[in-house]
Amino acid sequence: MHIVLVEPSSIGRRIIARMLEGRGHRVEAFENGARALRFIQDTPSVDVVLTSFETDGISGTELCWECRLIAQEGRLLYIIAMSSGTETSKVIEALDCGADDFIRKPPVPEELFARLRAAERLSTMHKELVSFATCDELTGLLNRRAFFEAAERSIGDALTEMPISAIMLDIDHFKRINDTYGHLAGDAVIKAVGEFIARQSNIVGRLGGEEFAILLPGRKELDAYKIAECLRFEIAGAAISADDETIHITASLGVAEISSNSDISLTDLLKRADAALYEAKKAGRNRVHRPEDDIIFAVV
Ligand code: GH3
Ligand code: MG
Ligand code: MG
Repeated sequence: MHIVLVEPSSIGRRIIARMLEGRGHRVEAFENGARALRFIQDTPSVDVVLTSFETDGISGTELCWECRLIAQEGRLLYIIAMSSGTETSKVIEALDCGADDFIRKPPVPEELFARLRAAERLSTMHKELVSFATCDELTGLLNRRAFFEAAERSIGDALTEMPISAIMLDIDHFKRINDTYGHLAGDAVIKAVGEFIARQSNIVGRLGGEEFAILLPGRKELDAYKIAECLRFEIAGAAISADDETIHITASLGVAEISSNSDISLTDLLKRADAALYEAKKAGRNRVHRPEDDIIFAVV
C-alpha cells in the first residue's frame, strides 16, 4: 500500500518507515502535518495515512479531519492515528476526529501489520463498490450517473480552463446489428466502440444502449469536431470480430462547446451535442454535426 507516515521524531519515523518498507509498502515520511496534507491532496495513490497525534504544522487530529474530508469526496483513504497516550479518551478523540483506527506508539510490528491487512481488505471492498457504482459493466467506461458527476466536477474545476466541448455518439442502425447477428454480437460491437472512445478523454461515458458521451475540457468546438471526425473514420474502418462474424458499422456524432464567456450548464452542453447528433442522423448518418454547421458550411 502507499502509506503517508507523519511522525515528529526522526528516529521513530525511520524505525516505522523501515518496518513498513520491509513488508513491501511504499512509505512517504513527514515530520510536518501540513506538508503531509499537501502531499496527500496532490497524490491520489496514497491509500493509508498513519499519523501521530503530536505533529508539527497542524496537529494529528486536524490532519485526521482533513483526511476524512478528502475521503468523503469519494477517495479511498484509511486513517490510522498513533499516540503514546494509553488512555481510552485518546482512542475516542482519534476516532471522533475521523480516524478509522488507532494504534499505540511505538507500534508493535505484528499489530501494525494486522491493522494494515484490515485496511487492505476494506480498500479492496471499497474499490469494488466504487467500480460497481461508477463503471459500465460492458465497456468499462463511466456509467451515465458517474459521467455526469465527473463532468460536473470537471466543469466546476475548470472555470479558468474554458472552453469545454462535448461529443455525443450513437451507433447507426444498431437494431439491425442485433437482429442480424444477435444480441451478444451487438454487445461485442458496443464494447469495441467503447474502446475507441476510451482513448479520447478521461471523461467518457456510456449513457445508454449504444450512445456515448465524451467531455473535452479545454478544447474548442473545432478541436472536438476534428476528434469526432477521426473517431467516425476509425469506427467506419474497423472490422469488429464477434463469434465468427466480422461486423462493419458506422456512427453519427454531434459536438458542442461551452465558450469562455458563456455560462451554459453541462445539461445545456450535452443537449446541444445531442441536438447536433440528431442533425447528423437526419442528414444521413455516418457523419459529424456541430452547431456551427447550421450557420456556415465550414470545410475542415
Ligand atoms: P439509429 O441509426 O437511428 O440510431 O438507429 P438504431 O437502430 O441504432 O436505433 P437506436 O439507437 O434507437 O437503437 C438502440 C438499440 O440498441 C435498441 C436496443 O435494442 C439496443 N440495445 C440497447 N442496449 C443494448 C445492449 O446493452 N446490448 C445490445 N446488444 N443491444 C442494446
Ligand atoms: Mg443508434
Ligand atoms: Mg441510440
